[in-house]
Amino acid sequence: MFGYAGKILRINLTTREIVKDILPEKMCVEFIGGRGFVAKTLYEELPPGTHPFDENNLFIIATGPLSGHFLPASGKTHFGSKSPATGGYADSNMGGHFGPALKYAGYDMVVITGKAETPSFVFIEDDKIDIRPAAAYWGKGALTCEAMMKKDLGEDFQILTIGPAGEKKVNFACISHDFGRQAGRTGMGAVLGSKNIKAVAVKGTGSILAADVKKAFALGKEAFRKVSEKPGFKGWTPEGTAGITDWINEVGAFPARNFKTSHIGHSSMINGKKVLERLKITDKGCYCCPTPCGKYGHTQTILGSAFMEGPEFETISLFGGSCLLKTIEEVAYANYLCDELGIDTISGASTAAFAIECFEKGLIAEKDIGRPVEFGDLESVVHLLNLMGQRENSLGDLLSQGVKIASEKIKNGSEKFAIHVKGLEWTGYECRNAPSMMLAYMTADVGAHHNRAWVMGHDVVGAATNVHDLITGGTHNEKRPRAVISPEDSAQYVIESQHIRPAFDLLGCCRLQLMELGFEVENYAELYSVITGEKITWEDLIRVSEKVWNLTRMFWVREMKNFGRNMDYPPPRFYEELIPGGPCKGYGISLDDMDRLLDAYYAARGWDNNGLPTRETLERVGLAHMMEPLLKGN
Ligand code: SF4
Repeated sequence: MFGYAGKILRINLTTREIVKDILPEKMCVEFIGGRGFVAKTLYEELPPGTHPFDENNLFIIATGPLSGHFLPASGKTHFGSKSPATGGYADSNMGGHFGPALKYAGYDMVVITGKAETPSFVFIEDDKIDIRPAAAYWGKGALTCEAMMKKDLGEDFQILTIGPAGEKKVNFACISHDFGRQAGRTGMGAVLGSKNIKAVAVKGTGSILAADVKKAFALGKEAFRKVSEKPGFKGWTPEGTAGITDWINEVGAFPARNFKTSHIGHSSMINGKKVLERLKITDKGCYCCPTPCGKYGHTQTILGSAFMEGPEFETISLFGGSCLLKTIEEVAYANYLCDELGIDTISGASTAAFAIECFEKGLIAEKDIGRPVEFGDLESVVHLLNLMGQRENSLGDLLSQGVKIASEKIKNGSEKFAIHVKGLEWTGYECRNAPSMMLAYMTADVGAHHNRAWVMGHDVVGAATNVHDLITGGTHNEKRPRAVISPEDSAQYVIESQHIRPAFDLLGCCRLQLMELGFEVENYAELYSVITGEKITWEDLIRVSEKVWNLTRMFWVREMKNFGRNMDYPPPRFYEELIPGGPCKGYGISLDDMDRLLDAYYAARGWDNNGLPTRETLERVGLAHMMEPLLKGN
């Protein structure tokens, strides 16, 4: 098919067998690409019950049909596996330049299985594929390793690396690329580490065919023009996602003290403006992106100095809010350390905040940590990050497994403030006054991740629904009562968002052009049609999105005994404790209310009362044939 590179590269690290398969046209039509390819391949090819660190687990790299083409922000790459963080379905994506390079080398997807005998890296240069020794890189930080490999292989290689955390199978180890882009969530770096793979390097010198090159070029050019004329183009790019810090704090949705409360007093010290004033050297963007939201910069703290990319909003909210670090320089230093260790900043910060609260409550002893730790103290946070990222001592080993598993072992009520869903640590929004966003976290298909659906705007009275309007539209001072939304409306908002966002993940584009700038979705259907030659509407893409959402839910059902509603609840802190201070003081959502939200959501999705897709729903979305053994087993 046009638009695609046309091949799947399969690498078995145990047997060293390398196979280049033709990309099936049927798969392109039915699952489009990116996350769709990941979900389908995992469901069909992963033996049920495989442990995430078993060599039979798959590590999948997938691009979309629009990846690498001339259009705004077409550089997303997706990774998929069975997650060590959750034991369930996992995918994670990143920007940068890797996906386009992979397509220029001739591959839409890479499926890696087995385990290399010794530390190795995967080398891809067009047709030349190799599994090479990586002893010289093993043990190095993820950023350091990338710099070394660029020197050794050449600047024109695009490289994925893992840090020591990935090598040591820390459950939330990430994949790093381009000195600061990460596929951060769900432990993809640990899966690569379990296979003894330190890096994947790719150089592609080919090209990708478009069905109508002239029209594709004209439409791409037009798309850049349209994006540049959006009102958010000039307003959003300078600060990027960090620009929402003050607003989220002012509406009382900023996680503070391990989500104990939802407002901080020092947001002006860690907001987007401070990123520009105190850190930024230059803007940094992904492949073909007209809105470079990355901020490459330098930080100086009492513990040292570092060059790093970021921090973006999630890192700010978790380190600056949940861990209470006081300045943007401190947040940036913690960000840098996570990047070099190769751990997800969200899970790393959340686990540090959890450990500090455990220490405050006397559930972890000073002798086990090696020193006292406290909120707001950079040295405490850095000490904990090193413990977990390097799996140092028994406490580091425990924390490296994430807050769910750590709390199950620490017990004594720590489960109540282990902030996660399905084992994945919560990202940067406190939702006790945001029921729709709470529902989005509860039902996200990889665990508590905001990028599956962002519906904060629906929960805030009078708020705009895109970030640009939040930043420039005068809603900063909106102190809120909670918006009056029925569970049915919340469910609809969440489902709509859960279908729109993944559609970008299917195509291989960054969703921020829509979310932050308002670049209309219809443009993407048109670009897809011109590039692939397959006529499609946005509604068709949304239907594929819904199918993929049901498929990922069924992966959990297959892999986890007793999977159902019980796995969709947030931690008790969110339904047993009211917010103790700030603009949302006194707000909370009861467990009954959470059940009402879930009831409405399951009904709207066509799932049963336990949250399992029904046969009728699976037939409607076109999945029943894949599920037959499971449905019969039921
Ligand atoms: S908007 Fe930001 S994340 Fe998206 S492609 Fe551009 S630089 Fe990358």
